[in-house]
Amino acid sequence: MTPAFSLCVYCGSKPGTDPLYAEVARKVGHWIGSSSGQLVYGGSNNGLMGIVATATLEAGGKVVGIIPQSLVKLECAKTDCTELHVVDTMQQRKLMMANRADAFLALPGGIGTFEELFETWTWRQLGYHNKPVGLLDAGGYYRAMIDFLSHGVAAGFIHDYQMELLTIGHEVEPLLGQLHRAAAALHQPLTKTS
Ligand code: AMP
Repeated sequence: MTPAFSLCVYCGSKPGTDPLYAEVARKVGHWIGSSSGQLVYGGSNNGLMGIVATATLEAGGKVVGIIPQSLVKLECAKTDCTELHVVDTMQQRKLMMANRADAFLALPGGIGTFEELFETWTWRQLGYHNKPVGLLDAGGYYRAMIDFLSHGVAAGFIHDYQMELLTIGHEVEPLLGQLHRAAAALHQPLTKTS
């Protein structure tokens, strides 16, 4: 059966220093699983990545892990994913993750997470896809980055319409609800008005 909602989650391969980050990753996995959804992610068992995947499975959801061959040992591939795809390159991983998702969400993470978030956001701006992209500012982790983006807007390098392509939230459930509704709306056929 096709899952109700397929969410691609980008997040840290480390747990971070504040236990709040793990709690948030668990909440996201629980939300996906309990809404009969599907998690698409990088296929690692480490850090927040492992936590969100385990929580999704425990709540009855599907997990699609996609990992390059070179990282299977290094990032501890999660072998109990519903589907684990071992691909040749990082580019294949990111493209497959994007194709399998209805929407994207970045949780706290490091430079790998930043790279994935910014690439997906810029792909939307370029029209390579039109799927919602969310950023969860859990515990204010992304506050400085959000302030810097505002600085980019004020300095004339980032347009307001580009900022509108990124949905920023501070709490798990409202943000996931927003992304789910936006993805569903994008899948609706246009209604003829005249
Ligand atoms: P991090 O946020 O740095 O802990 O990394 C989270 C995930 O991003 C890990 O699975 C990394 O393999 C992945 N990652 C690291 N570098 C890149 C990159 N250049 N492009 C895409 N993903 C990356």
